[in-house]
Amino acid sequence: MMINIAKPQMGKEEKEAVLEVLDSGIIAQGPRVKAFEEVFAEMCGTKFAIATSSGTTALHTALLAHGIGEGDEVITSPFTFIASANSILYTGARPVFVDIDPVTFNIAPEMIEAAITDKTKAIMPVHLFGLMCDMDAIVAIAEKHELIILEDAAQSHAATYKGRAAGSLGTGAFSLYPTKNMTSAEGGMITTNDEDYDGECRIIRQHGMRRRYYHDDLGFNFRMTDIHAAIGLEQLKKLPAFNETRQRNAQFMSEHLQGVVAPTEPEGYGHVYHQFTVRVPDGKRDALIEHLQAKKVGVGVYYPVPIHQQSYYVNELGYNVRLPEAERAAAEVLSLPVHPALSMADLETIVSTVNEFFE
Ligand SMILES: *Cc1c(COP(=O)(O)O)cnc(C)c1O
Repeated sequence: MMINIAKPQMGKEEKEAVLEVLDSGIIAQGPRVKAFEEVFAEMCGTKFAIATSSGTTALHTALLAHGIGEGDEVITSPFTFIASANSILYTGARPVFVDIDPVTFNIAPEMIEAAITDKTKAIMPVHLFGLMCDMDAIVAIAEKHELIILEDAAQSHAATYKGRAAGSLGTGAFSLYPTKNMTSAEGGMITTNDEDYDGECRIIRQHGMRRRYYHDDLGFNFRMTDIHAAIGLEQLKKLPAFNETRQRNAQFMSEHLQGVVAPTEPEGYGHVYHQFTVRVPDGKRDALIEHLQAKKVGVGVYYPVPIHQQSYYVNELGYNVRLPEAERAAAEVLSLPVHPALSMADLETIVSTVNEFFE
């Protein structure tokens, strides 16, 4: 039987919660969304959380609520899911890509300052694969240059940096897509400590409406439904156990894998292993993928093309930069299953299948 790369964990709690909403008569955004926002903010250690229809709309709303738009630049990582950068494009602003650290795969803070111009409004660190960015360095740069920090925390629910949760060191944006560490089927969350900013996000989410059917600004329908929130509420209760299992699975694989470079968990960081991403040296990555697929071990490549080399960015937007570490990572990385549904036998199969390739 195939060992899948991801497997959403839906129990009877989620099923019952959905049925309760269907019977309640309030199925669009209502009391469950409000309750979900409250517990999500608590999990992040922030005062407020705003639920949205997806991680992408959370990022888009978060940027708009900071007043980012045409003529602005936002610094981010080229080695991430396309939504990080596309959300910047939606506002009319331009993503400026800074190369990554080869060990953590996250944006290299020492290279950020050289990319700052008088158009730069924000830095969007992406906490990739469940490991947070070097936030002390990023916060120091942002303070010095008076820049906004928008954390793309789509892959890092409850990840920590020096005891602080993802989404609490700047404005946070999360995805609740089924493959993420927790899900609401589709959904997103914005986190903040600023009451005015919280209000601004809510207005953008609801067609720019401050007073019922009076529209002073252009907004969107980016609302979450109570059906999605009901799933999210149950998933949030299970998140600590999900993350602990991911960490245990990662530890087992790191201890036993040969021939590949396992992920690192630097001192002071709480890695939540959204992905267990290894580096395969010597051009053997694609051959290892074939070997794993033949043995029915699920495998993913996140991401095969860095954003500055995606054809839309090159051909339509004219990007023409070289970011050697992001490009090398795209050619060398491979992610192995690490999700909470893996059995001990699955983990042993994953490890032995990789190791036999190198023997
Ligand atoms: C999943 C993801 C998003 C987008 O979230 P959706 O819920 O799929 O819209 C944004 N950024 C990163 C890094 C992601 O992994």
